[in-house]
Order: sequence, then C-alpha cells, then structure tokens
Amino acid sequence: MRKLAVGNWKMNGLRTALTEISAIATDVPPDVEVVICPPATLLSLIKTETIGLGGQDCRAEASGAHTGDLSAEMLKDAGASYVILGHSERRAAYKEMSPHVKHKAEAALAAGLVPIICIGETLAEREAGRTLSVVTFQLARSLPDSANVVVAYEPVWAIGTGRVPTPEQIAEVHDALRARLVKRFGKAGADVRLLYGGSVKPTNAAEIFGVGNVNGALVGGASLKVGDFRPIIDALARA
Ligand code: PEP
Repeated sequence: MRKLAVGNWKMNGLRTALTEISAIATDVPPDVEVVICPPATLLSLIKTETIGLGGQDCRAEASGAHTGDLSAEMLKDAGASYVILGHSERRAAYKEMSPHVKHKAEAALAAGLVPIICIGETLAEREAGRTLSVVTFQLARSLPDSANVVVAYEPVWAIGTGRVPTPEQIAEVHDALRARLVKRFGKAGADVRLLYGGSVKPTNAAEIFGVGNVNGALVGGASLKVGDFRPIIDALARA
C-alpha cells in the first residue's frame, strides 16, 4: 500500500501560491504519494508530474443548472485525480449528509476520480462516548459500492484547533474502520488507505504515523507552506 499525504488548501491560494506548490512537488520521496487539493481556480494551472491533484468537493450531478458548482468531470478535466468529499466544514456549512456524500462519491468514480471520504465525530459526540458509533455509521452511509476510495478520519474537534487525539484514540478508530472496510469489501478493504486528519504538524506527524492502520494524512493548515508540509511528508516516508 502506497502511503498518502494529502494537502487540503481550502479557500486559500492565489496564482502567486503556485511557486509553493512547485516547491512541494520537488524531491518527493518515492514511497509517498503526495496530493494537493488547491482551490479549483488553480487546478489547471499546476503543471507537475511528481504530485497528484484533487478537488475539494464536487456536485453529484454530471451537468446542468447548478450555479456555482463543479462536476466531477470538470475537476478531472482540470487535472484532478482525487476529490475530497464530506469534509466536516461542508457537512456543517451546507448540511451535507452521508447519503449525499455517497452520491457524490459515485459521481466521482464515474468520472475517474478517487473519492477521499471524510468522517469524524464532534467533541460532544466523543464526550458522550459515541465516537465509534458515529464514525462507523458515517462510513457505512458515505461509502459507494467500490473499494477504490480513500477514507480520512478527521475528528471535528481536532481540525484547525491544535488539539489532537492520543495515539490510542486514533488507533481505536482506525482499527474499527479497517474492520468495517474488510467486512464490506473483503481483501480490497484491507488495501483502502486510511488517513488521519486534524492538526497534523511537523511536531506530531511521526507519532501519528506510528499508529497502526494509519496510512497517511489529510493536512489542512500545515500543507500551505513547504516548510511545514515537507517534514510531514518526510515523517510519513520514514514510518
Ligand atoms: C482539514 O481541514 O482537513 C484539516 C485536517 O485541517 P488542519 O490540518 O488545519 O487541522
């Protein structure tokens, strides 16, 4: 299984940031796949073969009267090979529910994109002891009928906060997700890459990548600068 580091640039980055992406694409370790998901406005401007590109969302429909939205085929046409779906910021801001995420994942696969499906519990859900039931429910309802996906466990309370679960807490969730994937897809489920996301930094990356069933990371803030993202990529290469 090839380790995967995905940078989610969210709504950050003008054309001047293309030099940062070029720097990230330089000297990528051979056993790590690096993917940047920039704002869609930059996708077709990035010319590199050493990293992959992804969108941050897509519409489930292939085309039509959906002002402001992008189809999976458009992202593919602009150079993407992945698309982040069900990010907690979209689940919260646009009331995206897991069945909707599943439809988008089906559209992504049909267009030749690999969906990166995000799931994760809120702080209130963790404190109520509901973490495993929440994430396995989200997983079951968000997955398409294909193991050609990446799953990102992103505790909502860890995103952009500097708070990170303990290695034991990450292991508990990733082991449970792996078991569900194997139950659902058999051997192919053992090969689905499971990313951890939520305040991954150069200072905590090695510890996180040392956890079993963590096959990479989905990184927000620390993916914007090569000086932060590179040490994370290197820690993944060493894991
Ligand atoms: C994210 O938004 O997917 C994320 C993990 O953000 P951060 O790394 O900034 O917590």
